Amino acid sequence: MSSSPYKRVLLKLSGEVLMGSQPFGIDPEFVAEMAKEVKAAKDTGLEICLVIGGGNIFRGMAGAAKGMDRAQADYMGMLATVMNALAMQNALEQLGVPTRVQSAIEMDKVCEPVIRRRAERHLEKGRVVIFAAGVGAPYFTTDSGAALRAAEMKCDALLKGTSVDGVYDSDPKTNPTATRYATVDFDTVLADNLKVMDASAVALCRDNAIPIVVFSIREQGNLAAVLAGEGTKTIVQKGA
Ligand code: UDP
Repeated sequence: MSSSPYKRVLLKLSGEVLMGSQPFGIDPEFVAEMAKEVKAAKDTGLEICLVIGGGNIFRGMAGAAKGMDRAQADYMGMLATVMNALAMQNALEQLGVPTRVQSAIEMDKVCEPVIRRRAERHLEKGRVVIFAAGVGAPYFTTDSGAALRAAEMKCDALLKGTSVDGVYDSDPKTNPTATRYATVDFDTVLADNLKVMDASAVALCRDNAIPIVVFSIREQGNLAAVLAGEGTKTIVQKGA
């Protein structure tokens, strides 16, 4: 049985965590490491929804900065998230974890479309569901996609696995006295523009009372620790 305070969670991983030490792209060894973390969490009895970004392959904003049409560049970014989802599905299934990918951009040869009731059924059957292509529209990010799916799937928390171990009052890379919050209110995050997720994602979580747990996914075993209510993290919640 799970010792977690949660029953169903949405785990958001930025695309960068799949590239390992490479400058871009997908490092299968690293994807396998991430898959092990997900499996360990699932083995505690949790229901797991996954959203993976696409920043290791393509970000719409970067394309737009180089003169591309923003919407067109965003479509490419969304396709990148589908590639990451398929890579993660492959890694999870190699570990014996049944997994389904549902994409907000329909691609019926490679994955299912997003159908909430079908996703529910997958979770009931013990499958991990990876939601790809964000919200399926340009001008959004996979953070918003993660918040949307967390609300739609009635997840108890949105776990944001990144390369930093929580939310700081200033940038720890440039300010040695920066302190990490144990908990912080949604409104503080929005008012102080703290780097957690983009504002639309934070607002969606606030409005649906979904706590955001920010932690480092790079430390082995940390996801399971955080899910058990331990480990280093920041919880963004109401009234913190
Ligand atoms: N994207 C989009 N709509 C969405 C989700 C993603 O247009 O709903 C595009 C956008 O261009 C974004 C890219 O996909 O830059 C990759 O996603 P994101 O930047 O969120 O990835 P991460 O930073 O988490 O790796």
